[in-house]
Amino acid sequence: MTYTITLLPGDGIGPEITDAALAVLHATGIDFAWDRQIGGMEALDAVGDPLPAATLDSIRTTKIALKGPLATPVGGGFRSVNVALRKEFELFANVRPAKTLVPGGRFDHVDIVLVRENLEGLYIGQERWVEVDGDPHGRAESVAVVSRKNSERVIRYAFDYAVRHGRKKVSLVHKANILKFTTGLFLEIGREIAKEYEGRVAFNDLIVDNAAMQLVLKPEQFDVIVTTNLFGDILSDEISGLVGGLGLAPGGNIGTHSAIFEAVHGSAPDIAGQGIANPSALILASAMMLDHLGEDEAALSIRRALIATIVADEVRTRDLGGTASTSEFGHAVARRVV
Ligand code: NAD
Repeated sequence: MTYTITLLPGDGIGPEITDAALAVLHATGIDFAWDRQIGGMEALDAVGDPLPAATLDSIRTTKIALKGPLATPVGGGFRSVNVALRKEFELFANVRPAKTLVPGGRFDHVDIVLVRENLEGLYIGQERWVEVDGDPHGRAESVAVVSRKNSERVIRYAFDYAVRHGRKKVSLVHKANILKFTTGLFLEIGREIAKEYEGRVAFNDLIVDNAAMQLVLKPEQFDVIVTTNLFGDILSDEISGLVGGLGLAPGGNIGTHSAIFEAVHGSAPDIAGQGIANPSALILASAMMLDHLGEDEAALSIRRALIATIVADEVRTRDLGGTASTSEFGHAVARRVV
């Protein structure tokens, strides 16, 4: 069986970390047919469009993509390429697992999967200026949208994810004491759906400020977290920080018909081209992609190989205190894949 997958190496450190991730993926022995496409600044320079039709067509056909970071051109009215991709393919859930890999950090037992609503909330881009006392920028307004449809599918995804991965609890994070309509609806739907999973997956809810504090006090109490777009954006970076930063944080954008797997970090222009970036996040995103394809054993083997390389072999890139180059690290992980 050959999997045809759209590959978007992306900008900045993207091509370097993609090469490392491909070395690891090929070591699993699985057959991949990569449909290489461009996006972000590379595509803007080559064809004048950061999200070319050919790239979208490829994802529409393959229904699955592995992507490096895409830089959004500053100015010129470009919307975020990443937000546009999520909208285009209705990738309603953003899944960000974070697990302690390197012992001896701040926390040793973090194993949290954050599921973030990916399409609406405050990210719909409906903002406007209102003139006050002759000042055209006297007030700024932003609209947040929470719909039953998108809330239901992301919350259900979180519960189904918990069942599929043997996880015990879903915590819903909200601010329903203040934002009574928007996050109130999200909470109400969460409580309804939780009843369907009673006896299989436990459920609790927390107000976002308390959740942020609990995460740094006692992160072990969390298992799967589901929340709205902006809270998810902030909490997922906080959670990445608990386990050693963005270099180790993968993400999956999941839709009904397609899915895109990526590193959470950006194109890191400050270190691009130097061969020192940590490819771990994209390697872990590749493992998430294999889970999605039902290749559970290969996914597990990649995760084990990565941990063995960092912890037992002590092969690490500079951000983790080591001296290995991106490519040396990638090949060290690939050699560990069984
Ligand atoms: P960034 O994540 O690229 O970099 C932040 C810091 O982390 C930098 O110091 C960088 O060197 C370091 N870093 C990031 N990834 C690393 C890695 N794998 N190994 C070692 N160090 C790493 O964030 P930024 O500088 O704010 O964004 C740069 C560009 O990336 C922007 O154009 C932004 O729009 C884009 N971006 C894309 C995505 C995506 O494609 N999903 C996500 C975030 C940012």
